[in-house]
Amino acid sequence: MNMPYLPDGVPLPRPGPDDQPYWDFCRNRDLRIQCCSDCGTFRHPPAPVCAHCGSFAKDWAPVSGRGTVFSYTVIHHAVHPALKQAVPYNIAIVLLDDAGDVRLVSNVIDAAPADMRIGMPVQLAWDATADGGFVPRFRKA
Ligand code: ZN
Repeated sequence: MNMPYLPDGVPLPRPGPDDQPYWDFCRNRDLRIQCCSDCGTFRHPPAPVCAHCGSFAKDWAPVSGRGTVFSYTVIHHAVHPALKQAVPYNIAIVLLDDAGDVRLVSNVIDAAPADMRIGMPVQLAWDATADGGFVPRFRKA
């Protein structure tokens, strides 16, 4: 297995009732986005109610993992002690190709800071976490 993009010791996701299913799917390397069962609107982060139609009914739709960099930043200051050796690293907002307006906050793991571009096509790349789970990150497509 490759080295994780961010080192062990970085705080891991602590799901609540709304996003627990999302992280359970991720644990199986299955990227799914919550969507409304009644009107089909995608929503992320997961939430109990559809903001479009008010329905409480929801599904978890599998998505391709293809997307584009909507925006990004390059982090130079380690905000957690575990990140001291990781800087500089990028944080990317990825607009998924097949999930409406859903954008994931993630990283492009094979892009040096100078390589980052808005509009860059990317593809899902699962990154293992210290607790045996996976987080969705991206590679240049
Ligand atoms: Zn709806």
